[in-house]
Amino acid sequence: MKSKLPVLTLKGSPRQIGYDHGRKARPEIEDNLEVYFRRFKSETELSHDLAISRAAKFLDVIDKISPEYAETMKGVAVGSGQEILDITALNVRYELMYSQFSKIGLKPMPKTFGCTAFATLPAAVENGHLIMAQNWDWIPEVEGLFLKVKNENGPDTLSFTEAGVVGGKIGLNSEGLGLLINGIVSSKDDWARLKKPFHVRCWEILRSRTLARARAVISQGQRNCSANFILGQQKTARSGKVVDIETAPEAVCELRPDRGAVAHTNHFSNPRILGVKQVLDEERLSTLQRYRRIQELLDGSVRVGRKLGISDAKNMLRDHYGKPESVCRHSNMKLPEYERYETVVSVIMDLPTRKMWAATGTPCSTEYRSMSL
Ligand SMILES: [Zn+2]
Repeated sequence: MKSKLPVLTLKGSPRQIGYDHGRKARPEIEDNLEVYFRRFKSETELSHDLAISRAAKFLDVIDKISPEYAETMKGVAVGSGQEILDITALNVRYELMYSQFSKIGLKPMPKTFGCTAFATLPAAVENGHLIMAQNWDWIPEVEGLFLKVKNENGPDTLSFTEAGVVGGKIGLNSEGLGLLINGIVSSKDDWARLKKPFHVRCWEILRSRTLARARAVISQGQRNCSANFILGQQKTARSGKVVDIETAPEAVCELRPDRGAVAHTNHFSNPRILGVKQVLDEERLSTLQRYRRIQELLDGSVRVGRKLGISDAKNMLRDHYGKPESVCRHSNMKLPEYERYETVVSVIMDLPTRKMWAATGTPCSTEYRSMSL
């Protein structure tokens, strides 16, 4: 992992945006393809050929439901000198890996992103701004980057993504709308539903002008796989809304902030309402422990009237209670190397000013740097 993640500034048509993404991140995309195809095989028993045949089915789906996303992926393929189906497989890797985890029913068991995310309403923050924050824990060898995109039709966006993936999954837009995500696995996850893929949904959320539109992107129709989304929007002082939406393939469930704040990790709060079985393995300890800890930190601060500052948000993301399976997550050396996950990027966003602070790797050991849209 690099000490500073690259920021790509992109503009123009979807094709041009994709082409420049591919050209500027050529080595990183090549690395990510190598990492994911190796992991498809070693962790989910998915061969290169099988992954590609499923990617081809998804390319047809994306061509139909989101032609702009498809065009951008094609630009990435040309710019990076890779095959379009390889790039598509990277963009639907959430579907390919997650549904395979719940399908094979034997070791290896599901591995979810170990993410810890929280958002605080303006009234709970020192300067009255809506704050959204997240540690994204995943395979340390994955190459991440930030995309700052000036879109031809839609708001401008600043988001974190994996090199080669068009749809950023943690980010904000010029309408003061922000997105955080948590991976969750359920018994009903299945790539073969061939619905709108997770990363396409993230991309559409960040191109939404309103919270209502973003909420519709998540809840309309069925989903291939489960996931949790935290949405927030604040355009001006005195406004500001946050909603957490837990989703399973056939149902969604909304959680409201509790005394000014909401937090989520990698398990369902309401699996029964969503009609699914929770699938948790050794991750169980990590997600439950991180969930209890982040709630405790919010209970002891914003929920008893102490206003949050950016430095408090950084300290929460640097918390080591229960290390290595802590909010600031470190590799668990008791696990085999391929099962070790750690914080790959840590992000804090101030929505009304469209500012973002990001630290690469575990935030206890790296400084946050600021960026703005
Ligand atoms: Zn740490």
